[in-house]
Amino acid sequence: MPLLEIERLEVSYGRIRAVQGVSLTVEAGQIATVIGPNGAGKTSMLSAVMGLCPARGRVAYDGMDLRDMDVEERVERGLCLVPERRELFGEMSVADNLLLGSFPRRPARAVIDRGLEEVFARFPRLKERRTQRADTLSGGERQMLALGRALMSKPRLLMLDEPSLGLAPIVVREIFVIIAALREAGVSILLVEQNARAALQTADVGFVLETGELVSQGPAAALLDDPRLIATYLGGA
Ligand code: ATP
Repeated sequence: MPLLEIERLEVSYGRIRAVQGVSLTVEAGQIATVIGPNGAGKTSMLSAVMGLCPARGRVAYDGMDLRDMDVEERVERGLCLVPERRELFGEMSVADNLLLGSFPRRPARAVIDRGLEEVFARFPRLKERRTQRADTLSGGERQMLALGRALMSKPRLLMLDEPSLGLAPIVVREIFVIIAALREAGVSILLVEQNARAALQTADVGFVLETGELVSQGPAAALLDDPRLIATYLGGA
């Protein structure tokens, strides 16, 4: 059974049809990436899976129909979204931002402390900066904090919206190494990216979304060799 099954998903804003009948599956243990240009409907798709916007179609997670489940229940069951704007609390410390990530599950203090230690082990730079205000972090550190906060909710399926946005190439590489390590730790990942090459190099499978519709899909390695994708999204040869 796939971990996530999306069938004929539709998201509309008034007359704008942002997602027009998208079907895709993510298997447990995979990194699946959705690439495509600005405005293709990528963010809308993630919002619909998380329950943040009204949608039509069917979304099943771990065999459960998500239709009647609110956002909090989805988080409790292991779904988590790191939004494009990262949405950190700038005036709060790194550690306090992380603690907020565990809130939806309301775990015991010992569980929170263990989660915090795990995040600090994965991101030593956050540990060094645990008392620093979030709005004084570099772009890459902010993305790490957003990822770390998401990990505090113990996700099984982590959805990442453009984690490389606005970061220098060397930092982008670092973020993608972290994403690959999360898969090794057993987290399945649905990754939305405009940085198509880096995303496909890290992912197992890829989906290409254009104006709300899937136009191509397959193993990530095959998409990297696809002449049309090379011309359109991968910056030539
Ligand atoms: P980007 O990479 O630029 O974020 P995207 O692929 O994530 O693009 P969406 O953000 O899902 O695409 O947007 C898809 C379409 O829906 C766009 O035409 C956008 O203008 C429109 N849209 C998104 N959110 C809203 C909203 N809240 N109200 C009205 N239209 C919206």
